Amino acid sequence: MGKPTGFKEFQRQTPNETDPRLRILNWNEFHEHMPDSELRTQGARCMDCGVPFCHTGSLMAGMAAGCPVNNLIPEWNDLVYRGHWREALDRLHKTNNFPEFTGRVCPAPCEGSCVLGITKPAVTIKNIECSIIDHGFDQGWVQPNPPQTRTGKRVAIVGSGPAGLAAAAQLNSVGHEVTVFERADRIGGLLMYGIPNMKLEKHVVQRRIDLLATEGVKFQPSTEIGRDISPMDLREQYDAIVLCTGATKPRDLPIPGRELKGIHMAMEFLYKNTKSLLDSQLSDSRYINAKDKHVVVIGGGDTGNDCIGTSMRHGCKGVINLEIVPEPPTSRATNNPWPQWPRIFRVDYGHAEVEALFGNDPRLFSTTTVEFLGNDKGEVRALKIAKAEPAPPFKIIPGTEQEIPADLVFLALGFLGPESPVAEQLGVKLDGRSNYEATHGNFNTNVPGVFAAGDCRRGQSLIVWAINEGRGAARECDKYLMGKSDLP
Ligand SMILES: Cc1cc2nc3c(=O)[nH]c(=O)nc-3n(C[C@H](O)[C@H](O)[C@H](O)COP(=O)(O)OP(=O)(O)OC[C@H]3O[C@@H](n4cnc5c(N)ncnc54)[C@H](O)[C@@H]3O)c2cc1C
Ligand code: SF4
Repeated sequence: MGKPTGFKEFQRQTPNETDPRLRILNWNEFHEHMPDSELRTQGARCMDCGVPFCHTGSLMAGMAAGCPVNNLIPEWNDLVYRGHWREALDRLHKTNNFPEFTGRVCPAPCEGSCVLGITKPAVTIKNIECSIIDHGFDQGWVQPNPPQTRTGKRVAIVGSGPAGLAAAAQLNSVGHEVTVFERADRIGGLLMYGIPNMKLEKHVVQRRIDLLATEGVKFQPSTEIGRDISPMDLREQYDAIVLCTGATKPRDLPIPGRELKGIHMAMEFLYKNTKSLLDSQLSDSRYINAKDKHVVVIGGGDTGNDCIGTSMRHGCKGVINLEIVPEPPTSRATNNPWPQWPRIFRVDYGHAEVEALFGNDPRLFSTTTVEFLGNDKGEVRALKIAKAEPAPPFKIIPGTEQEIPADLVFLALGFLGPESPVAEQLGVKLDGRSNYEATHGNFNTNVPGVFAAGDCRRGQSLIVWAINEGRGAARECDKYLMGKSDLP
């Protein structure tokens, strides 16, 4: 695949990014498009390795190795190298309903298991994926493709994140009547109201939703199942239900001072910011403003980093990011070999922006919060922090306590599973981690005709896994309705 000697001739090139000091002045995506000629060169680096691991999508050491939707990566690398963009798009859509999302924000476990990556920098798979689908939209090749016939079966999908949207796309494609219920006022789940605009512009999300609507999927936003409509009514009115409600219960930090004003869950900050941005370009002031504030983000990952990037765009005075875990190594440790996901030190966009503006990486590793300290108005003014031991339970190292200033604190400590009312009212069992209990592969809950997919089943994860699960649940739901299924 690609040019047989391409991997020897060409270096890995990723797209240019807008200078961090300029991009924090707006909310736009900041990766520039690469010229076609350069993309073809990058596709040429795919080396015909014989046994590609990039598309395997397995779990190794608890993390994805290879692409969880089994994208046919060597095939489309080759097609891009040859300039056959249309064919590359067809291959890409065979496995991935929404490459414009994953091509922008997937952490790319595929690249971590690229065979070329054993000795040289991996093929730029994610950027090639994004370019194929962007090219497809630009050329007008991505058109609504409604089913020719309808089965008369009705399916309700609860939750409109990537799992719900993937399940809807697949079930609609085989002729079922699909309605997606969403409690937020806009469709898209965390694609819309979690991941900020600069990582994924919302017109990109809306474009796909509009396409699905044209194909016949019905969307009902501002409708909470369990409050506006009872799950039992859904059971009566629909032939099957797919639960895709996400893992939205945030983990708190119950230490002294938690009640002080100015301490917020990360999702409250991110949700309100995107809503205000979309409603009024932030002119309604219905968001938490970090302007001129000392911000502390507790917890890393995508959520923590998105709080940093958002605070930077508000014009904060400074950001500190506390990570309880030790600083990762700069290259793979011996217990983290290829093709596992490389657990190495990475500089995400928010870190780079803080470094560019304030001259330092915002992260303090092996650091834990002991107490929030307040002023006489009951507002947070500082954090007492301390160094932590390198392994769980991350005990405090005595004598290392210090104070850092804080006017705003965001808690990005992960999620504890889905909220419970829907499961309770339907009688769906939970697993030991309080997610909906259903096996990956068949996605059936204990209630016949009720399926579960995405973060509500597997716990907080990735968009690409949500798409994998939405597609899988759709296949099993189709089997339940029709006795067999041709869905992949
Ligand atoms: C801040 C943040 C940044 C992230 N960044 C990335 C990233 O860069 N790359 C990546 O791959 N992953 C990222 N993730 C993870 C990714 O967004 C999730 O894994 C993915 O969105 C899960 O999809 P889902 O469809 O299962 O659930 P969600 O996207 O959470 O959607 C669930 C939807 O269900 C709705 N809902 C819940 N209960 C009800 C009800 N009773 N009635 C009606 N609707 C209901 C919710 O309102 C929500 O809209 C990020 C997550 C967060 C929080
Ligand atoms: S979806 Fe993610 S893992 Fe799959 S090819 Fe795209 S970037 Fe790689």
